[in-house]
Amino acid sequence: MDPLRFVPIFEKTLWANDRFAKFQGIEGAYGTIWQISAHPSAANRISGGEYDGQLLSTLLTSEPQKILGEVPREKFLRLCFLDAKEDLSIQVHPDEEYAQKIEQDHGKTEAWFVFWAKEKNRLVAGTSLKDKAALKAAIEKETLGKHLCYHKMEEGDFILIPAGELHALGGGLTVLEISTESNTTYRLYDYGRRDAAGNSRPLHLEKSFDVLDLDLNSEVVRANPQSDSIETLCDCEAFKAELLSIEEGLVLNTQNRFHDLVCVSGKLELKWDDKSMELNPCDAILIPACIGLYSLNGKGKVIRAMAGEVK
Ligand SMILES: [Zn+2]
Repeated sequence: MDPLRFVPIFEKTLWANDRFAKFQGIEGAYGTIWQISAHPSAANRISGGEYDGQLLSTLLTSEPQKILGEVPREKFLRLCFLDAKEDLSIQVHPDEEYAQKIEQDHGKTEAWFVFWAKEKNRLVAGTSLKDKAALKAAIEKETLGKHLCYHKMEEGDFILIPAGELHALGGGLTVLEISTESNTTYRLYDYGRRDAAGNSRPLHLEKSFDVLDLDLNSEVVRANPQSDSIETLCDCEAFKAELLSIEEGLVLNTQNRFHDLVCVSGKLELKWDDKSMELNPCDAILIPACIGLYSLNGKGKVIRAMAGEVK
């Protein structure tokens, strides 16, 4: 099996920007652009090669060993771009146990790497309120905005949002999202916003309060890239994310685990066996576990994500 490319899925959202679509030569505003996903809510099709047109979810069922290697199926990751013009509502995701019991879905831990930051370029991760009753009161009085932890994000910044942390992406940011294979989000505050018809969006307060962990306050990770280096951005049970900075070349090994690669900048050549393919900014590639040795040559930066190891 060769490295896999996918047909992206462009999804319209209320808060969408048109920056990512424009970069791909596509008209319209799309908030979520699925790049590598096998979740039933949005499953990518393979583009080119031996499996052209097949759903990734189907291939994972027919060739689990080749793709996943020693990684269990439930630890497969989802990757998408989020392109926000408006602030997203304040939300929270359940952990694995709650999601399995209540939603028949997986829990969601996610991380964002900032591709483009313009306008307000800030996001929310955590709250200064450490008491659920006080948080409830602030939501009722529509004053929660004053108690949120805002983080200014520059291009290249990274933040990990564990399940249970209150968070929201901010308008003006285009990020790569790496997450566990989940589609469950609970909205707990929408800044009192109303749509053109005067309607507010539904909130999921009860479930939000079930899963909220008010002790979680994430910090921004600022990468400090060196030439031909691998910098760890996060390493948790859900996944590991790294920034590869390539000046000449890096030789890498799947070690029987799948790797997701997303080109951030530059132009690179991915080589395996006696074959190669080109990587350009925003390209997302799945390296199946069975590849073993591969290399990246040229000049550029790449985000690499892989399933986390149980510690
Ligand atoms: Zn989220």
